[in-house]
Amino acid sequence: EAVLYIVATPIGHLDDISQRAIQVLRDVAWVAAEDTRHSGKLLSHLGISARFLSLHDHNEKQRAASLVEKIKAGDNVALISDAGTPLISDPGYSLVRLCRDAGVRVVPIPGPCALIAALCCAGLPTDKFHFIGFLPAKSGQRQQVLKDIPAGVGTVICYEAARRIIDTLQDVMAVYGADRELVLAKELTKTFEHFEHGTATSIIEWLEADPQRCQGEMVLMIAPPAEKAADDIAPAVQQTLRLLMAELP
Ligand code: SAM
Repeated sequence: EAVLYIVATPIGHLDDISQRAIQVLRDVAWVAAEDTRHSGKLLSHLGISARFLSLHDHNEKQRAASLVEKIKAGDNVALISDAGTPLISDPGYSLVRLCRDAGVRVVPIPGPCALIAALCCAGLPTDKFHFIGFLPAKSGQRQQVLKDIPAGVGTVICYEAARRIIDTLQDVMAVYGADRELVLAKELTKTFEHFEHGTATSIIEWLEADPQRCQGEMVLMIAPPAEKAADDIAPAVQQTLRLLMAELP
């Protein structure tokens, strides 16, 4: 019975492709890709000549139905995106949904994903996190999305385009205040990989110090608010705590 493979590909360093991904991409009848020219380069680097089909945001709904037909007819299909894990701020949701609805097996071939690579090296809490994908392009909408994030979700992670990063950092400051701890992860797995830790102001300063720093791919992470200081505890509760402390050995 044929299946749909969801295959992660590198986010920069080509050696990050898994053995299993190479095997699957070599064996499938069709590779569905966002940009067939871009993916053609990766596959030719791997020595694979695949049959490509394009699947991008604008044709996904129509293409999904014909891909499901191909799989049902016995052709294995692999979905890849330009970089990283398909469906994560990338096309594929309609296709996977349709496969699930049609009883077609969907098999993960896990691998690189920028948000996970960024989070696990940032030094911010990882027990809980909230991924919001790309923020809206307009400042007002961006601030609204940030305001709507409920408390207690842990580290907030977003993808951001280099040309908008400074405006976004200003909006983060407007919504969360100037003291909030942030980490900007840049060019992960590439030559100029960098993690910049600080506040919105210090990160803007770092970016503005060198025009090259405002280029490339980036993930922005917002730490949860710092632990509440004693001043934030209601006076009555403070009084009770003081009495209890006095009684303790
Ligand atoms: N599907 C991908 C994944 O698994 O991470 C994400 C695709 S999304 C269209 C592209 C965005 O991911 C970029 O704008 C950037 O925010 C982030 N990204 C991708 N590669 C990156 C890298 N090497 N370093 C930092 N961020 C990266």
